[in-house]
Amino acid sequence: PHVTADTGMDVLTHAAEAAVAKGASPFSDALAERAFSTAFQSLPDASTGDRGAKARMLQASCMAGMAFNAAGLGVCHAMAHALGGRFHLPHGRLNALLLPQVIGFNAQDPRAAEGYGRLAKACGLAGNPRALAAALTRLRTRLKIAPRLPVSAGELREALPGLTQAALADGCLPANPRTVQAGDIQALLLEIGGGA
Ligand SMILES: [Zn+2]
Repeated sequence: PHVTADTGMDVLTHAAEAAVAKGASPFSDALAERAFSTAFQSLPDASTGDRGAKARMLQASCMAGMAFNAAGLGVCHAMAHALGGRFHLPHGRLNALLLPQVIGFNAQDPRAAEGYGRLAKACGLAGNPRALAAALTRLRTRLKIAPRLPVSAGELREALPGLTQAALADGCLPANPRTVQAGDIQALLLEIGGGA
């Protein structure tokens, strides 16, 4: 179940980043929105072994891959790559921890806020970024994913310069809808840190 949860949260992150990425188009938006709503609805049942839900997750995963292949990803994946390389934690779990914070950060861009709102609406939620971030946090809790990075505050602080440098150099970062500075990455990482 935890592998399904982690990888399923990665699917949601692929769709959420593609929906607001710089390379997004009506074609990638259609794939991202359908992938997101399908994964959002199917992941809880998939994580407890329901085969129909798992089949829908497979479709959502492929659609999300097609969406980000066209549109790009963003700062969530840039930070997840840096953290995964440093602390050897599962990629999808890192995205699950980061995504609600990243939605808050990117939603200051009006077009990104609109994109997140469309995803929320497609899931039957209020059509705004805050509702989307809150729903992802609830889903994460339901999937028993701990809300903080399992790394001590001191360890994270020590790793911060290297993590920031790696995230800034990551190939996913240029597609992010907002320009990201070193201070933004540090603030986002510190928000999820200190869970050990
Ligand atoms: Zn990913």
